[in-house]
Amino acid sequence: MNNPAHHASTYRAFTVTGRRQFALVERERHEPAPGQVRIRVEACGICHTDALAVEGLRPDPSAPIAPGHEIIGVIEAVGAGADPTWRPGDRVGVGVGFLGGQDNTCEPCRRGDFVNCSDQPQTGTAVDGGYAEVTYARATGLVRIPPGLDPLAGAPLLCAGLTMYNALISASARPGSLVAVQGLGGLATSASSTPARPATGSSPSPGAPPRPRSPQNSAPTTTSTARRPTPAPPCDEVFPLSEAPKAYERVINGDARFRIVLAGFVHQEIGTREGKPCPATAR
Ligand SMILES: [Zn+2]
Ligand SMILES: [Zn+2]
Repeated sequence: MNNPAHHASTYRAFTVTGRRQFALVERERHEPAPGQVRIRVEACGICHTDALAVEGLRPDPSAPIAPGHEIIGVIEAVGAGADPTWRPGDRVGVGVGFLGGQDNTCEPCRRGDFVNCSDQPQTGTAVDGGYAEVTYARATGLVRIPPGLDPLAGAPLLCAGLTMYNALISASARPGSLVAVQGLGGLATSASSTPARPATGSSPSPGAPPRPRSPQNSAPTTTSTARRPTPAPPCDEVFPLSEAPKAYERVINGDARFRIVLAGFVHQEIGTREGKPCPATAR
């Protein structure tokens, strides 16, 4: 794909200050800090929790920040000291369940309780997220995205999907189990699109019992024996990144039927795709 934006020295990002004060800004594309990677954003789901950043519910709402924590993209550069397992060209998810990567040094981390790391940035609230063409993230916060998973379909799984999936695991739900999912729109949509049977090596969940991670690759991967994630249902809406403020409004006003995903510039040509009712709910 010969998009000149891939090689530009700057990138565009939507930042927000105060309350819903979006600004489209141009930023320098710098080398990732030690332990971090630079990611070309392909897709970013809009989560209701983005309201923390957009509605000024942060300690300092005057500091500009790019919202978004359901990010799928491709690594452009790997910073010094980052896990060398990650390489440019790898497709990754970041912001998983709002978590921006553990420090691996604090007491909870030493116990393997990475979710409760005392020094873990919140993607899209404390550090810049995915309402941008490029974002930076700690390598410890990455998950590997299987090649067959469409970034636009997969992005909402990184928060909404994960939240619901963890509940199914905790409830020991089995294929065929009757479950009720409490949550408007996104969670229920994710529930309907996620395999009932846990895939081998599938993603971790916030609040799930901590599992030691392989030092070689802190990110869970889907193995060849794993069941491939089911694509998101066609009721997800897709907006180009350039319409991020409008897409956010649609979510926060309750007009989005289910999830809205922002498409990075690699998908700009698709334009806006209005949502349509899921087959399951149209009956
Ligand atoms: Zn979220
Ligand atoms: Zn820690």
